[in-house]
This record gives sequence, structure tokens and C-alpha cells, in this order.
Amino acid sequence: MKNYGIIFDLDDTLLATSNLYYSLIIEMMAMVESCSSPSFLAPEKILNVYRIVTSNKTSVECETYYEEMDIENMDVYPDRFPRYLAETFIESCLQAGVFPKKEDVQRVYDVGTKIFSHTYRLVPGAMRLLQYLFSRKDVRLFIVTHGSEKLQAPKMRDKERTFSRFDRIVVVPSSISKSVAIKELIEKNDNIDEWVMVGDSITKDINPALAVGIRAILVRKHMSHIAEGEVVDIGDTRKRFVDIDDMGDLYEYMKERYLPKPSERTV
Ligand SMILES: [Mg+2]
Repeated sequence: MKNYGIIFDLDDTLLATSNLYYSLIIEMMAMVESCSSPSFLAPEKILNVYRIVTSNKTSVECETYYEEMDIENMDVYPDRFPRYLAETFIESCLQAGVFPKKEDVQRVYDVGTKIFSHTYRLVPGAMRLLQYLFSRKDVRLFIVTHGSEKLQAPKMRDKERTFSRFDRIVVVPSSISKSVAIKELIEKNDNIDEWVMVGDSITKDINPALAVGIRAILVRKHMSHIAEGEVVDIGDTRKRFVDIDDMGDLYEYMKERYLPKPSERTV
């Protein structure tokens, strides 16, 4: 009997997460608007500030603001998101010609910390797929997710019974490619004959999997707008890469095409 190792990405593959982030960004944008009124900074400009901030480029003005206001208790870790929101708020207000109040900055930061207390839901169709995979004796399940332990672990807290059935859950710092963790899983589990990575990101999930020579299945992000990046072409990439619309289709694909039917299994 052939053994299958299926590695899932967590955010926006199994759990719906990006919608929460978007809604918190919108909350921050509304606060910029109310603080800088009547002067006006277009929403797309604020979004652009956010993009710059998230690439870790803080302006001198923003740094000076932190120093002058003596702001504490705004840790960059365990997750940068609250800090990114606060910095976007400061930068946007400054660009709109308004010096933001310390308590407003703190309020924006607190909005960002909602990511730690939010109840994350499985994406539609994920439960049915997982139930099916749990029932297969020839399948072992893994998660390789980017982020910090402190942020990722609570996301799975409410679904303990589901996530405890995975063989291993690996949290990789965002600065490190997932291919490192995938390689390690392959080396440590030499009784698995065939590996596949399932994820919603071409650059973070698909390409790292293809790079280490395993199959990769892209599941289009739930209610998504963009698929970033391009699939790198490494020799037989086309044979190893599958592009799928949602969890329902992935379930059909796994059941009907990828995994052998019970009667076809060889002993
Ligand atoms: Mg993801």
C-alpha cells in the first residue's frame, strides 16, 4: 500500500483569515479619516502607505514621532500586524498634515491586536475534505504555516479536535521559505511514498513545494481577488502542479483522481 503525505497551508487554505485582516485595515482607514478631517487622504494612498510600512520601510517622520511621543507597549512581536496598522495610521495622518494623538495611535494598535482573539473559521468545504482524509488509512496530514507560534496556535484553538488529528503542525518564521520545513518533513517521514502541498499562495506554498520536487495543488483563495506570482517552471512542473477553485473541487479531486479508490489499493 502506498502512503500519502498531504501538507496543508493554514491561512486562507484551511482557515479563513484574510477577510479579518482586510476588515481591520478598513477600521484603521476610517480612523485616519476621522482624525485627519477635514483634510483628506485618499483610501488608495493609505493602502499604499500600508504596503510601504509592511515592507519594513518606516519614514524618518514616523520614527521621530515614536521618539517624541515616547510610545511603549507596542511590541513588534509576536506579530507585526498591530504595529503595521499603528505605523500606517501615524504615516497617513502625518501625510494628511495632522499630528496624530498618542491615544489614537494606541487605539489603532489595539484594533490590530484583534487578530489574537478572533475566532477563525474553517473555509467552506474544508471540514468535509478533512473528514474524508482522516478516514483514509493511507493518508497522513501535516500543516506548514508561516508566522509565529503565538499567533498561529490560537487560530487552531477552537478546532482542537480537528487539528489534533494532524501528524505534525510546523510554524515557520515568515522570513524562511516553506521549502526548508517541507524538506525536513520528507526526511523525517521516510515511510511516506508520495507528498503533495496544498496552499493558496503561489509564492509561499506552490513554488517552495515544486522546488523540493513534490506535487503542489493551488486552491484559489476563498472569495479572493488576486493570485500573486507565477508558478516557476522546473522541468516537469506541469505534471506536478494542479490549479483548483475551492475546497469542494479539492475534495472531488482527492477522492476521484488523486487518491486510489479503496478497491484499487494494492496490498
Ligand atoms: Mg495561505
